[in-house]
Amino acid sequence: MLMKDQKSATRTHFAMNTVMSHKVFGIYAEDCLDAMCREISQLEGLLSRFIPNSDVSQINQSAGRSCVEVDSKTFEVLTRSKELASLCSGYFNVTIAPLVALWNIGKDSFTHPSNDDIQQKLSLVNYRDLILDSDTQTAGLAKIGQSLDLGAIGKGFAAEQIVKIINIFGITSAYSNLGGNVVTLGSKPDGSPWHIGIQHPRQEKTLLGSVAVTNQSVVTSGDYQRFSSDSSGTLFHHIIDPTTGYPVESGLVSVTIISDNAMTADVLSTALFVMGINRGMELLMSFPKTEAILMDTEEKVFVSKGLKGQFQPNENILYTILE
Ligand code: ADP
Ligand code: MG
Repeated sequence: MLMKDQKSATRTHFAMNTVMSHKVFGIYAEDCLDAMCREISQLEGLLSRFIPNSDVSQINQSAGRSCVEVDSKTFEVLTRSKELASLCSGYFNVTIAPLVALWNIGKDSFTHPSNDDIQQKLSLVNYRDLILDSDTQTAGLAKIGQSLDLGAIGKGFAAEQIVKIINIFGITSAYSNLGGNVVTLGSKPDGSPWHIGIQHPRQEKTLLGSVAVTNQSVVTSGDYQRFSSDSSGTLFHHIIDPTTGYPVESGLVSVTIISDNAMTADVLSTALFVMGINRGMELLMSFPKTEAILMDTEEKVFVSKGLKGQFQPNENILYTILE
């Protein structure tokens, strides 16, 4: 077992359009943090659709014309994106970018797009049009106007990659928060689990509770993290329903996924948010050792049954266990 007072290092930085913070234990903690930050910025350089020469930008610019050769990491995340999109029946959909751009997600204010524009962009959304050739390591999109947005999977992939780095450094206890995507490695140095706080989606600086985790990821998607408002003051959040083209109204305001796999947790938090509680919980059942904490628009909290004992609610929080 690790000593309680062993060396540790922490770092906070901005990457992938969010604030990230990490804590790692061990004598090589600082070197490990350097390597983790290098990895995250290399991945951002490959996967961001806002960086002009990234792999994703090159795919988007060549849509409907040609495929482009991509880095092996880009190829891996695209392959997993397509597989997961299929498992999630297209509710998680990396070809959502034309709609994300139309709604101007992430910008402070915007004008509501017309229904005609929404329908036109919606016709371009189809994850099956992502063309992948493993022999040539090339990727492309079938139709002109299509484009990729890896915003709902990129941080999960980055979390997986930094866990590999932490392992290479021989570190057995670490915690990273990649903007709402928390990944833990091992337990705390004293052997106790990490306690990850779950933000109350409707009350600032209040937690719904916490989950005790070891070697697991805890990822939240909610309508309160990133949103914009139009001139009438109506709020629009950042997750789009690929069946309607409009920001999701599934009855859920926040979805937290707890899983051994950081990328699956990231994808499912978005997918369940889109699908709503009934279809979402049905999907969750098909993923082993994957649990969820949900809140609906009436502020009711639901917890999947595998979290019994692992979820510690805040004093005032009542919740229902989903059997
Ligand atoms: P966050 O990025 O805030 O952690 P998510 O992981 O849920 O939240 O990802 C949301 C982002 O993914 C959006 O900002 C957008 O770029 C993209 N996105 C929006 N709707 C979808 C969707 N239905 N499927 C896949 N990606 C989406
Ligand atoms: Mg996500």
